[in-house]
Amino acid sequence: MPAAPLPRLRLLATGGTIAGAQTAGRGYRAAALSIEALVAAVPQLATLAQIEVEQVAKLGSQDMTEAVWRKLAARAQAALDDPAITGVVITHGTDTMEETAYFLSLVVRSEKPVVLVGAMRPATAMSADGPMNLFNAIAVATTPAAHRRGVLVVANDEIHFAREVTKTNTTQLGTFHSGQRGLAGLVNAGRPHFYAPPVRRHTAASEFAPLVAASARARTLPVAASVSEWPLPRVDIIFAHAGMDRALIEAAVAAGARGLVIAGVGDGNLGAPALAACAAAAKKGVAVVRSSRTGGGVVERNIEIDDDRLGFIAADELNPQKARVLLMLGLTRTTDPRALQELFLAY
Ligand code: GLU
Repeated sequence: MPAAPLPRLRLLATGGTIAGAQTAGRGYRAAALSIEALVAAVPQLATLAQIEVEQVAKLGSQDMTEAVWRKLAARAQAALDDPAITGVVITHGTDTMEETAYFLSLVVRSEKPVVLVGAMRPATAMSADGPMNLFNAIAVATTPAAHRRGVLVVANDEIHFAREVTKTNTTQLGTFHSGQRGLAGLVNAGRPHFYAPPVRRHTAASEFAPLVAASARARTLPVAASVSEWPLPRVDIIFAHAGMDRALIEAAVAAGARGLVIAGVGDGNLGAPALAACAAAAKKGVAVVRSSRTGGGVVERNIEIDDDRLGFIAADELNPQKARVLLMLGLTRTTDPRALQELFLAY
């Protein structure tokens, strides 16, 4: 009996430490290596899938932009719409991976897996984590059990949901955590084990998907062409602290922010001067979302702050950086705080 052909997988590369090379001294340069070089370094990948590579960007993810998000969404959607493609893997820096993953989970329409993967050690480092992470990511993205689980992050033998995952440590391999609702699963040397499915709306059930019309997904699409289709409104994140005044909130509004996400103290709280500035912003029609700087828990409405009276939105479980992503997309549909609140309870 001839062996069944291996699944076809599209590997989209954006750079990051997984493609990083050490420099003289203690440093390294992210995104130094091409995706072809990364794949060539792990011959075992050829046992998992027929891999088609595409270099979408070449950057450290601190330089990730909305324009690259859009291009990535378009290229991922084009791959997923191809019946011959089983899944998509995206190499990405770990710094802002959670934001890209959550954005894609809201704007890509498919039941097939999309897996983001990165590394904490550069490709040239001793005991680099990238090769096994890439192997595991491709194993997850070619597994039928990964379907309908939305966008996933694979690193350090763990599988995370885009909505739940966050980077928690500057340098250590186990940086990613899904502390609130737990892991999507584990993956041992290419053998995935999935736990419960995700709880909130995503991908095929997202009202924001697909981001770009099929006609705009041609391979030659310049980044700018997709950006001009649907510019996202400016949303700024403001980090709260003891002794905070109005200045940063007013500066954000003056800079044209249509939404503010407050990384509030504790349960999304703010001292009186900053609260008054937010109330004034909300009165002018700026969407004010209260999230928390604590890294965990739920921000509920009307606990210490009267959201109903002030016209604020509670971020529910989203951390500030993910609340910003959802608010940018939400503001393309509505500026009504009650309708925006519904989004925060649904996604
Ligand atoms: N700043 C780099 C990036 O996000 C390093 C982090 C990493 O990839 O692990 O691309």
